[in-house]
Amino acid sequence: MYDRKSMKADDFINHDEIMETLSYAEANKNNRELIESLIEKAKKRKGLEHREAAVLLDCTIPDLNEEIFRLANEIKNDFYGNRIVMFAPLYLSNYCVNGCVYCPYHAKNKHIPRKKLTQEEIKQEVIALMDMGHKRLALETGEDPVNCPIDYVLESIKTIYSIKHKNGEIRRVNVNIAATTVENYRKLKEAGIGTYILFQETYNKESYLKLHPTGPKHDYNYHTEAMDRAMEGGIDDVGCGVLFGLELYRYEFTGLLMHAEHLEAVHGVGPHTISVPRIRRADDIDPSAFDNGIDDDTFAKIVACIRIAVPYTGMIISTRESQATRERVLHLGISQISGGSRTSVGGYAEEEEEDSSQFEVSDRRSLDEVVRWLIGMGYTPSFCTACYREGRTGDRFMSLCKSGQIQNCCLPNALMTLKEYLIDYASPETKKAGDEMILREVETIPNENARRIVKERLGLIEKGERDFRF
Ligand code: SF4
Ligand code: SF4
Repeated sequence: MYDRKSMKADDFINHDEIMETLSYAEANKNNRELIESLIEKAKKRKGLEHREAAVLLDCTIPDLNEEIFRLANEIKNDFYGNRIVMFAPLYLSNYCVNGCVYCPYHAKNKHIPRKKLTQEEIKQEVIALMDMGHKRLALETGEDPVNCPIDYVLESIKTIYSIKHKNGEIRRVNVNIAATTVENYRKLKEAGIGTYILFQETYNKESYLKLHPTGPKHDYNYHTEAMDRAMEGGIDDVGCGVLFGLELYRYEFTGLLMHAEHLEAVHGVGPHTISVPRIRRADDIDPSAFDNGIDDDTFAKIVACIRIAVPYTGMIISTRESQATRERVLHLGISQISGGSRTSVGGYAEEEEEDSSQFEVSDRRSLDEVVRWLIGMGYTPSFCTACYREGRTGDRFMSLCKSGQIQNCCLPNALMTLKEYLIDYASPETKKAGDEMILREVETIPNENARRIVKERLGLIEKGERDFRF
């Protein structure tokens, strides 16, 4: 039975509730009156229930769809302003005991080179990332208790935080590792991680069991209940996501929102971020083998409807997507993007071997090019990591975000970290564009005192000081 407060996956991601939601949305996709009332409700910036959001997703009335897109953009600006946070993935190990049929790292793929970075190699990778200008990483590993135990992950996090290189340092390490125990989540928390990220892949249990035929990940309930264990272990920022293309997108969309509602109902905090990856080509993987791929228009609609349904949740898009797609969805609610990414183990320090990547990257531009592109569109690239370092996590963060107060931190921090980037890493062209942007944007900081402090600190950054934050 559907119960968002239940701790059992089958109850809070209840199949019957999803099917009823989809029927309800289908029946109302042309119901102008209902859709208009839902858009009005969404304008209050308090989010929507999964049934309501599913109706908007299905809406086929062109002028109302336009309004949905417009509202998504407005909500994004209200909560996060024009800043876009930058990050990079770092692959530590591609050993994996699971059999996920859509991933080249699945255990039966015998021709992909397997690799696990030594601590020295991690250092080289991190220095290469620092030399690009990154401050925020997402660690990625396959699941393998022998080759990649939790102690290795913990040691790696320690190594990463300890590296200082010129003006570079990694200030926030997010972690994307397999579902694990409360005890291990506690250890990750103690190691100082930012967000714990785990993609559900698909919320459809029947499909999930087929797509994950072997290995510990086959256990759908254990996987789906992972965020509850993470929160029990003290991690209060969790990142959800599905791999669009595995199952029907309407099902996934509804499941994702039900998961967010469950976390909010039980822990008082919804997901910190939602990622929206689409399946990509990779070694041994042909995306056409999955016939649920979604076109760019549908993808844009999904992003807009998630933005409206959970306005306070950060939304992430990776370099899986092309420049054109990224540009389109940036306007619809994306708040974090990766840049200059490599998706293989050891890909930053050495030339990437294409056949050991987890997926093909579509956007292959350098971080500098991505930063310049964002500036050109009027977005402020941000290397900010302030919240978790200031203890603004979980419900503390959410209450600041929901009230819109986080904006008082985001823009100042974006400008100060961008300034650091421009001085330390940018090409002359990017530096020029960025400095002009900072001059313009600093004047838009609403609070006079904050504006004065930021101007002062920008001057100090010019003189060599680093790491200011609000
Ligand atoms: Fe392993 Fe993750 Fe790939 Fe599955 S998706 S095979 S768990 S690395
Ligand atoms: Fe993110 Fe907080 Fe920095 Fe804003 S101030 S960009 S929410 S870390």
